Amino acid sequence: MRREEAIAAAAESRGPAPYAFPTQRSRGRRYPEAPHPYRGEFQRDRDRVIHSRAFRRLENKTQVFPQRYSDHFRNRLTHTLEVAQISRTAARQLGLNAELTETLALAHDIGHPPFGHSGEQALDRAMQDHGAHFDHNLHALRIVETFEQRYAEFPGLNLTFEVREGIVKHSRDYTAAEAPELAEYELDLRPPLEAQLIDWTDEISYNSADLDDAYEARLLSLPQIRAGVDLFAGMLDQVHDLYPHAPEKLRFNEALRRVIDYFVTDLIETTRAAAAPFGDVDELRRHGGRVAGMGAEADRARRQLKAFLHANLYNHPQLRREKERAEALVEETFRFFMERPSQLPHSYQEQTSRLPLHRVVCDYLAGMTDTYIAELHRDMIPARRVAR
Ligand code: MG
Repeated sequence: MRREEAIAAAAESRGPAPYAFPTQRSRGRRYPEAPHPYRGEFQRDRDRVIHSRAFRRLENKTQVFPQRYSDHFRNRLTHTLEVAQISRTAARQLGLNAELTETLALAHDIGHPPFGHSGEQALDRAMQDHGAHFDHNLHALRIVETFEQRYAEFPGLNLTFEVREGIVKHSRDYTAAEAPELAEYELDLRPPLEAQLIDWTDEISYNSADLDDAYEARLLSLPQIRAGVDLFAGMLDQVHDLYPHAPEKLRFNEALRRVIDYFVTDLIETTRAAAAPFGDVDELRRHGGRVAGMGAEADRARRQLKAFLHANLYNHPQLRREKERAEALVEETFRFFMERPSQLPHSYQEQTSRLPLHRVVCDYLAGMTDTYIAELHRDMIPARRVAR
C-alpha cells in the first residue's frame, strides 16, 4: 500500500513544500560575494565542496573495509556519493531544497580522519589525554572555514551559513555549554529538514552497503543474514518466488535493493506526514525534536539490521585485527609528533603559536588519507613499526 501512496504523492507533488528551505532566504556567506550569473548559492557551495581537497581525499579513506580488501568495496567517497544520491531522491520527493540537501550529503563526511571509525576513536582518545576531543563534524567545519586554501579573497570555502549549520547539526544537537564556539549556529534551534534528512540517508546507505560488502567479502553468509535480519528474509522470499533459479548473488542483490527501497520510501512517507503540520521552515526549526524519521515498523527493522551488523560484522575477528592495527598506527603517529613537533610540516609548526600542539597534531593527522598515514608511519617511525 505504501508504494502506491508514494506514487500517488509523487504524481501530486508540485513545487517546493512549505517547510522547504528557500534559497533566497540564505543568510549568505561570511565574506560577501557577488551572485553568480547562473548558479544558485547552494549550487555554488556544492561545486566548492566537490572541488575541495578534503573531498578528493575521501577516495583514500576507509568506510568499513580497508582499501586492500577489494577495489570495488565502498570507500568514504563512494559511500558519500551513495548518500548524495539517496538524499537527492528523498529531498525531491519531499519538495525540499534538493541543492542544499545534496551539498550537505557531499560534505557530511569530509571531516573524517583516516581508517573510518577506528581512526576517529583513536584520535579522540589521544586528544582526551590532553583534555580535548576529536569530533568529525566540528573538524569538517574547520576544514571549510580555514584549512581549504583555494581563493585569494578569503580562507576556506566561504560556504553559506545554511551549509555550515548543516555540517555542524546534521547528525546531532550540540549544547552551547559543550561547544561555545558554535554559538552563531543557534544551537537551540533544529536544523532545516534538508540537514535532518542526511542523518537517515547516511544510515540507510551504510547499513545496506556494509551488508553488501560483507557478503561479498564472505564475512557474512546468506543463511546468516536471513536468520538475523527479518526484513531481509522477507525480501529474499519475495525474490525467490520471482526468480527461483537465479544465482545466489543475484538473489542477494535483488533482496538488498528491496531493503533500500523499503527504508527510503518509509523515510519519505513518515517524514512527509510528520512535516505536514509545519507552515514554514522557521516553525519546523523551533520544534522541540527532529521531524525527519521512520515509522515504528521500519525503525524496528533498521535497529535489528544495525544490531546484526554490530554483532556479526563490525566485531568480526578479521575486521577487529584491522581495527587494532589502525588504532595503533594513529596513536603512534600522534605520539611521534607530540614528542617531535619540529618534524611537523612548516605550515603546521606555525600554527602552534596560536593553537595548542595537540590540536595542531590532531588537525594534521585528521586530514591524512589511509595510505598517507601508513606511509608516514612506515618511513618516520621505523623503530615503532606496528607488528602485522
Ligand atoms: Mg557517512
